Amino acid sequence: MNVTGHVKLFKTTINLCLIFGIRKHSDLSKNEPYNLKLLVVPNTIILEKRIFSRENAIKTLIFDIISDEEFERIFLNILSRGYKDNTYKFALARFLLDYCNGHGHVKTHVDFVVIAEYFLKYYWIQTCKLKMKHAPQATKKPEIVKIIEKEFDKPHYPQTFEEIRKLEPEKIQKCISQIVKMCFHNVTWRFQRVKINKATEARLFFDYEIERTINSNKKIVDLDYGINLNPNAIRFFQRYNAVLLKTVILEWARFLEKLNVGLPKIIAKTEGKNIKRKGLVKYRQLLEPFFGGCFYCKEPLQAGSKTHVEHVIPFDYIAEDDIWNLTLVCQQCNLHKLGALPPMKYVTKLIERNKEYRKRIPILEKSLISLEADFERVIMKHYENAQSHGYMLLREFP
Ligand SMILES: [Zn+2]
Repeated sequence: MNVTGHVKLFKTTINLCLIFGIRKHSDLSKNEPYNLKLLVVPNTIILEKRIFSRENAIKTLIFDIISDEEFERIFLNILSRGYKDNTYKFALARFLLDYCNGHGHVKTHVDFVVIAEYFLKYYWIQTCKLKMKHAPQATKKPEIVKIIEKEFDKPHYPQTFEEIRKLEPEKIQKCISQIVKMCFHNVTWRFQRVKINKATEARLFFDYEIERTINSNKKIVDLDYGINLNPNAIRFFQRYNAVLLKTVILEWARFLEKLNVGLPKIIAKTEGKNIKRKGLVKYRQLLEPFFGGCFYCKEPLQAGSKTHVEHVIPFDYIAEDDIWNLTLVCQQCNLHKLGALPPMKYVTKLIERNKEYRKRIPILEKSLISLEADFERVIMKHYENAQSHGYMLLREFP
């Protein structure tokens, strides 16, 4: 039978399978080029199939038809109970939600390269930007963190992930191919193991292939094969996306909290994308009547947009615009410092500034009250903690 013959047979099979709730999927040939073809089925999701030209074994995928309640129970069980030796399962759960919630058609077949892109985004923000710790000791760093840190070795990245993706496409590609190679063997087959009496694997959300089993704890996943999502699971992830995503973030943050004691805004940081900077203009207008010189170099400030509002302790660490941490600086000082920590003397100066002006600037008073009575200690603690998390310290500045 030629390729067209296969396609016809395949279409018929797929349609019949949809009627009976059974899915068929072609095995992906490893070396041969393949085509992608989309088959639109009314009232259901788009099923992707791959047309192949070598070793044409057709694999039958049968996903148990289960209720949304059952999906929910098992998904929550995976998040809160399953194995807890690293954060990959949270990343995979988040990938499932983000991927299924994407715009346009959701394809059931997903290559590991696609999953790796999502993983890279989550971990790049947490590692390079927010300096979150992922393991108790440096030696036990998850592979993905090592891969990212090897390529992105600067002490500070002021850019967003989207900016860095455009700026450093080669490094991004290197990370993605390393992540595919190194990071999926374990999480792929462990993810759906549910501990009820003993750990058993239920492939309810996706299917994959094992290339080799080394022992009951070590399996090599077929990386060329990718994963196939259960179309019913896709619908489940779409229907309850917002609430499931919150649960994933909460469980992920709960895990990271233990490793990042004292780090402010763990949940918002785990969420990553939602730490938004609000407009700082109102703070500039509030502080301008009191301060005529740059907080760092003392040069007279120019009116308007050449005067910058500066977070003395970096915004990426504090993750909030609080006026106790805000000063007015010249453009040069701001662009020089970016997300680094200034020398200690400026933190002392900030504390003195806050003490002196709290009665004159009501919003400053309010912001200091929110820090506790002993605000000097809290500010110092943040400064030290940011250093211990790896935020760059400028010893000579400005
Ligand atoms: Zn300056």
